[in-house]
Amino acid sequence: MKWEDFRSSENVEDYRGGGGGGGLGGAVGGGGLGIGAVLILSVIGYFIGIDPRILISGASIVTGGSSSQSAAPPKSGPPKDDVGRFVSAILAQNEDVWSQTLPAQKNIRYVAPKLVLFSGATRSACGAAQSAMGPFYCPLDQKVYLDTSFFDDMKRKLGGGGDFAYAYVIAHEIGHHIENLMGILPKVQEAQQRSSQQQANALSVRVELMADCLAGVWAANADQKWKILEEGDVQEAMQTASAIGDDRLQKSSRGYAVPDSFTHGSSAQRVQWFTTGLKSGQVDACNTFRR
Ligand SMILES: [Zn+2]
Repeated sequence: MKWEDFRSSENVEDYRGGGGGGGLGGAVGGGGLGIGAVLILSVIGYFIGIDPRILISGASIVTGGSSSQSAAPPKSGPPKDDVGRFVSAILAQNEDVWSQTLPAQKNIRYVAPKLVLFSGATRSACGAAQSAMGPFYCPLDQKVYLDTSFFDDMKRKLGGGGDFAYAYVIAHEIGHHIENLMGILPKVQEAQQRSSQQQANALSVRVELMADCLAGVWAANADQKWKILEEGDVQEAMQTASAIGDDRLQKSSRGYAVPDSFTHGSSAQRVQWFTTGLKSGQVDACNTFRR
């Protein structure tokens, strides 16, 4: 895909290196699981292939706590290294698409989220962030958290490398922010509190698939504006979507798939919803809650 000549977003907070992480010991737990925690746990689940219920049981470690960042301030100015420049450019492309598309299609103003780059560990308003969790969106501080070593993991362990595949991961997280701006995340959280574990998981699947579809909507509109897509890009994203479907991860971690505990959708569902967004370019095509 094309990104090199694109502007850098002003909304990257770079805490990588130089002792920017740390401060994990003070995360104080308590209280019920917020939607933030649920989403984080879901994200953790699909990227590292751990049954999310295990993570939910240990959730007091990652919920609550303060909204403070780590002690050291972020580096100023846009990142200058390759991966940092890439992330800033993709974030900028998301900002430019969504600040037009969201008001035009849904009459909702786009408030740009921050994207926190960290290495190893940092803090979020949703609790401690560690690179092993994979990227996630915290609705409480409206920030995306990303340790770019995840991109290496995608390439080495998940067979899903490539710049458009990485862009898709970022766009998926921004998709959760769009869901938040649309008021969907709070509604889902409310519904999950009155439902069984099985129903709650089914709702999480819909939240995840909608984020996949919204990533497709971004790609469609970005390509229409700037012709960013190159040969093989879409297949690359499909391969990623397919590699990180719950059935695939569950098969590789346990040897079989258990549909009721899916929280992110099967590989086929993820591919299908990303494609739906990409083909239509329309937010309304992404209603995974219908039926
Ligand atoms: Zn997600």
